[in-house]
Amino acid sequence: MIEKNVRKILSQLPEGVELVAATKKRSIDEILRAIDAGVKIVGENYVQEAERKYKVIGPRVKWHMIGHLQKNKVKKAVEIFDMIHTVDSFSLAQCISKACARIGKVMPILIEINIGRESQKAGVFPEDVQQLANSIVELPYVRLSGVMSMGPLVDNPEKIRYYFRNVRDIFNRLKSELVMVDYFKYLSLGMSDTYRIAVEEGANMVRIGTAIFGPRQ
Ligand SMILES: *Cc1c(COP(=O)(O)O)cnc(C)c1O
Repeated sequence: MIEKNVRKILSQLPEGVELVAATKKRSIDEILRAIDAGVKIVGENYVQEAERKYKVIGPRVKWHMIGHLQKNKVKKAVEIFDMIHTVDSFSLAQCISKACARIGKVMPILIEINIGRESQKAGVFPEDVQQLANSIVELPYVRLSGVMSMGPLVDNPEKIRYYFRNVRDIFNRLKSELVMVDYFKYLSLGMSDTYRIAVEEGANMVRIGTAIFGPRQ
């Protein structure tokens, strides 16, 4: 089933849209099956869980951090991950840059936007994105590569379109101001219920768990 789901999703995604398999709480065996079917990027939410899986699966796939990153986990995180989707403060970006400097790595990062302006959620408010981006581009060992958003919880997936559009507008505005950095190009939006809408609204990276692995136990 996992294999079939991956093949189906990959065949439906337009060219240029990258699939990140959201693998939190999934077993190594399940993840390997997804990889066999064509998954190239694995997205993990917790550093410790990613570390345990990385020891077995290794660098045959790219590892993306899609969960909230605590500063005390950054040192470990920069060793494992190839991209961090969830940067929402300058101090976190700075911490990542410093940890990368020590191991001679430049980390692609995305700014997480709290597009629904929900107080309990991670991410920066839309009006603060520009300023954060301007300060991040000064850091030597991170590479501002795009933006990510979860979007608010909605009862009908169609209601998310408005929020995705707002994220895309912010993304496009930043992109036009950061023309000198050709690596600013990722718009990470959309999960199992919403990835089709996300792609219609310009996402080129979608993070999918349930539609690949089934409902979580
Ligand atoms: C779990 C998760 C996903 C995938 O959610 P599904 O609804 O299972 O597809 C995507 N993004 C993030 C940040 C997640 O934590």
